[in-house]
Amino acid sequence: MPTRLDIYERKYRALAAELAEIGFISPGSLVSRTTSCGKQGCRCGGDPPQRHGPYYQWSRAIAGKTVSRRLNEREADLYRDWIANKRRLERIVTEMEKISAAAGEILLRQPATPKPPGRA
Ligand SMILES: [Zn+2]
Repeated sequence: MPTRLDIYERKYRALAAELAEIGFISPGSLVSRTTSCGKQGCRCGGDPPQRHGPYYQWSRAIAGKTVSRRLNEREADLYRDWIANKRRLERIVTEMEKISAAAGEILLRQPATPKPPGRA
């Protein structure tokens, strides 16, 4: 019978293996927007309106300030994946922390030094 500690250990190793598979990561978020320019006769003011874009913007915080950068469609596809990878990584790390804390509770309840085995 595996102990609870063994089960935590196994889950932890499985999460660590998942982490090892994660590709590039990026902080921040990606938004896509369409715009209308307001020029007379432009398709964006037509019926139905065909707005300009989509335009992609990647935003992230650098030293407490939000910094944004315009991306083309191909770049946006990459960053969408990398941002998703980072979120997955964070979920996995959070789960690893929970398992570690649960394992820690078991270990902290054990005596500081294992009792020597009784002699027959
Ligand atoms: Zn327009």
